[in-house]
Amino acid sequence: MAPNFAAVKTTYRMIAIVVVGATAALGAAAGADARPAVTDAYDALHYDVSLEYRSGSKDMAGTTTLKARATGALPRFALDFGGGRVSQVTVNGRPARFQASGERLLVTPKPLARGAEFSVTVDYVVTRSNGPDNRGPWREIDDGFAISPQNHQTMHHVYPCKNDIADKATYTISVTAPAHLTGVANGDLTQTRQLPGGRTARTYRMVHPMPAHDGQIAVGPYSLITRPGPDGVTIRDVVPTAQADQLEKTLARTDDQLRWQTARLGAYPFGTYGIFAPLGTISPFESQTMTTIAASTLASDPADYLRTHELNHQWFGASVTPVNLDDDWTAEGHAHFYGTWYDSELSQPGSPDAFAAGMRFNYEMDQENRDREGAPARPKPVSGQTQRVGGALALYALRQTVGAQTFERIERTVVSRFKDGVMSTADYITVANQVSGRDVSGLLKDWLYGTKTPPMPGHPDWKPGTPAS
Ligand SMILES: [Zn+2]
Repeated sequence: MAPNFAAVKTTYRMIAIVVVGATAALGAAAGADARPAVTDAYDALHYDVSLEYRSGSKDMAGTTTLKARATGALPRFALDFGGGRVSQVTVNGRPARFQASGERLLVTPKPLARGAEFSVTVDYVVTRSNGPDNRGPWREIDDGFAISPQNHQTMHHVYPCKNDIADKATYTISVTAPAHLTGVANGDLTQTRQLPGGRTARTYRMVHPMPAHDGQIAVGPYSLITRPGPDGVTIRDVVPTAQADQLEKTLARTDDQLRWQTARLGAYPFGTYGIFAPLGTISPFESQTMTTIAASTLASDPADYLRTHELNHQWFGASVTPVNLDDDWTAEGHAHFYGTWYDSELSQPGSPDAFAAGMRFNYEMDQENRDREGAPARPKPVSGQTQRVGGALALYALRQTVGAQTFERIERTVVSRFKDGVMSTADYITVANQVSGRDVSGLLKDWLYGTKTPPMPGHPDWKPGTPAS
């Protein structure tokens, strides 16, 4: 049976919608370096976020406490925050002067010396409004909401944070909601408390550092369904209570997808994994420990490519995080590489040619992507396909060159060396050279920085061109 390319192509387009927005904002973040550097001279260590949802109101009261370490003298520092009204800021328990400036909250503490650890607490009310251009992150349902990452700069619309993809921190997130609803966040559920007034507070913890854009917070008529998964991973799905039985069979596919990826990359990097299947319309995306895919999508489609792609982001994206937009192919290229591989094998069970056929399809669209969006590791600000397709092809070309076993050792080395951290393109190339014992720099640089699609090693018959529809 031939691979179902028509279905695969549809999936590519869906993801393109998500990622175009994502990378656009990463570009914006890179361009924001003009702001006074001193105000960002701190390392975010831990966030403690609490939010309260009330039925019938778009306003949510919130408190965020950030523990951080000054990496330079800090007479004044900034948090990123858009969409909220701040009532009070304290630093180390003392009231501090603050000023909103666009989407920055400027805080003037009692001066902090380089190396000092400090704690800043912000009390605020955030309004769930997507603004006149509808670019905000909020997805409303009848009684509740979810967050959709319009870009890599989402969570600062929800709580104050340092919106820097490379500054990862641990998190505690508490969501309070009326008792008939469930507050949801990614991470491990560590506490459920009944509060006066018929409210319930649920607290989730991310014990591994998380990039600031990688969260999800939601409220709705949802059930948390927890079960033991493969290799000691706890599976925790979040589904509309009324659809729990209907979705059970498709959610069970996660076990095979987890086993398949751990067989290639080593242990899953976190303790919990699951699917959040919200009501309403939302683009699919991953947050650390949790993939969001609309319940309506899962009810009609197992979405195996999509789910494997997003699951792979737990290794490449969440645990091993790209430093910036130029390195984003390390997340998107890997997710597409493994998603395509898994999906190809499902289409042609047992066929060694299935993966090659899937990659050939990508090869034929690569030149068009480079022309439009730039090279995978030197993309234009509005891009997405080139990191995903070109990045996956670079990995495939490396595998064709060094062999499947050596490639797997490179991948496993990268995953363990940069676990809970960040990885640049240069870092990846260094590991590929070290592990393979040869110089593959030229090969990878041609694929990652070249304006032309290189020949594919081992496949001289592959020609760049427009894929057959
Ligand atoms: Zn992705």
